[in-house]
Amino acid sequence: VAAALGLVALLGVAASLPPALREPGPLSPRIASYQISATLDPRTHVVSGRERLTWRNTQAEPATELKLHLYMNAFKNEESVFMREAAAGEGRLLGAPERWGFIDVTSIRLGTQELKSAARIARCAEDEADRPGCPRDETVMDLPLPAPVAPGASVVLELDFTVQLPAIIERTGYAGTFHLVGQWFPKVGVFEAAPGGGARWNCHAFHANSEFFADYGEYVVEITAPRDHLVGATGVLAEMRDAPGGLLTHVFHAEDVHDFAFAADPAFREHRERWGDVDVTLLYHPGSAAGVARDLGAVRAMKDLLERVAFPYPYRAITIVEPPVYGINAGGMEYPTLITTVPAFTPARTRLLEETAAHEFGHQYFYGLVASNEFEEAWLDEGLTTYVTSVLFDDLYGRDRSSFDLFGLRSSRVQVDRRSVATRPAADPLETFSWRFAPGSYWQVYAKTSVALHTLEAHLGRERLLAALGAYARAYRFKHPRAEDFFRAMSAASGEDLSWFFRPAFLGTAVLDYEVSALASARREPARGLFDRDGKRLEVKQQRPAAPAVYDTEVMVRRRGDFVFPVDLEVRFRDGAVERARWDGRDQYRRFAFSRPAPATAARIDPAGQVLLDADLLNNGMNARRDRAPARRVHQGLAFLVQNALQLVGF
Ligand SMILES: [Zn+2]
Repeated sequence: VAAALGLVALLGVAASLPPALREPGPLSPRIASYQISATLDPRTHVVSGRERLTWRNTQAEPATELKLHLYMNAFKNEESVFMREAAAGEGRLLGAPERWGFIDVTSIRLGTQELKSAARIARCAEDEADRPGCPRDETVMDLPLPAPVAPGASVVLELDFTVQLPAIIERTGYAGTFHLVGQWFPKVGVFEAAPGGGARWNCHAFHANSEFFADYGEYVVEITAPRDHLVGATGVLAEMRDAPGGLLTHVFHAEDVHDFAFAADPAFREHRERWGDVDVTLLYHPGSAAGVARDLGAVRAMKDLLERVAFPYPYRAITIVEPPVYGINAGGMEYPTLITTVPAFTPARTRLLEETAAHEFGHQYFYGLVASNEFEEAWLDEGLTTYVTSVLFDDLYGRDRSSFDLFGLRSSRVQVDRRSVATRPAADPLETFSWRFAPGSYWQVYAKTSVALHTLEAHLGRERLLAALGAYARAYRFKHPRAEDFFRAMSAASGEDLSWFFRPAFLGTAVLDYEVSALASARREPARGLFDRDGKRLEVKQQRPAAPAVYDTEVMVRRRGDFVFPVDLEVRFRDGAVERARWDGRDQYRRFAFSRPAPATAARIDPAGQVLLDADLLNNGMNARRDRAPARRVHQGLAFLVQNALQLVGF
């Protein structure tokens, strides 16, 4: 009853809601909009809610059913897809939650018609054949409609639901008095164009390794909680008013977002500031005051970078939630205009707190504002966010120490990622649905994407690459881009077709590995044989080399993998000279010859260390052997290599 009263009150204030945007909206298509009235009982950790969903069919085909995510049922029992995958070692869950979580949808009304009995929830896992007795996942609800929603038409549903929050698990739930309420309300999937024509629902089960995908809309959400609770949420706070039972109702308004989350805790400390016309709220816990400046500094720096590269942050608010130490599993998560970081106990020189804050704010762009499908193409949100975070930290801390600088040990952010990628070659392309990655390799969507884009910097330069990334973000702001859109936008903005790089890097598993196969120098001797000079025929026999000395140096470089990437070769000589050459990297082998007054001492591929996708850096360089082998030996050695190469390619 309280919820019903709330929804009525909410409709009363809807006309006077403050704008949630910094510029006049709507900025997005507003396909799925929600009015929700919810009450949090912090004693039982139950959220009871009523939701009015307005959904518009933007496809050219009628929708005969709706599909809705019931994410919270992932935590209901061990038959959920989420728990089964977690038991197999995926995701970040260790063991069963201390308290199971679930969502019960108790009523679904279309006008006066009750639709609940037609809804279908429990099913076998996707990718699994439907069979009787299979473990039942309850995270997606199919809702057949009494009449189809025509193209361009809208449908309004009212749903009543009860959520039992789990003990903190996968970034939602409660820990002590702290509540982070995410993925909590019945949420419609995305009705999208099908590849072969027509339309289909994109509404995957909640997987241990996947995040979310939803359409944009407007949200008006009333949250009723005890008076002593501080509440932070997506959007701007529109109103606070008394509620029966000594409770307090917070009304939040969010525009052009595709999700809504909130946090509540009587233990919260609050820090507020304004950055121009953006309200910044940091909710943290006692003992974590030292994290305030660190969190805000990192978020501000990432906001500045993305505003420079892409476009101004369009919302009027950003809320940063620092969970308590005992609720750390709520940390490191992004929702529209609300992010969670980690408690401030980590030393500044590990950058963990700063990196989490910056990364999660980065998702305001790559997830929030550029809404790619996190289920199907996680590299587009996680990978791009990891890359921009690494770029930012190189700027803030220096390229050699952007990840950590501790006890004399230093590493850049991307080197940490590079090591993880090089030691575990990709079993799957990055363009793989999150739950279909080989066991334990989903993290490649973060690391390999970042390493790949850093590698592309070797070809484009960092500023050109960032400019292209910004153009991609602007082109797909408030849209659902896919990999091909990213490739096209990046190519168009950089003025060249980059598919030679994108296809192997993101759609394939080709290994990039270049090596220096041979290096040898020999002092040039006069050629022997018969020579016609000044009308006479002379025979030149073996004789002492003439002065000044000339050394012929030959370097053989080899492409060991199928990934073609242009590389630089640097050759150093005993007299201090350095020669550089560029190789397009296409052939299997390439011979480089130099003639100088001194022999070579070393040859190195990619001397600047930019081609970070290179799987084996140990073979990138070679020092000259200090023997006096004549040039013939070099040629024999090269001939042997070439023979091997020809056999390899099947000639
Ligand atoms: Zn992320």
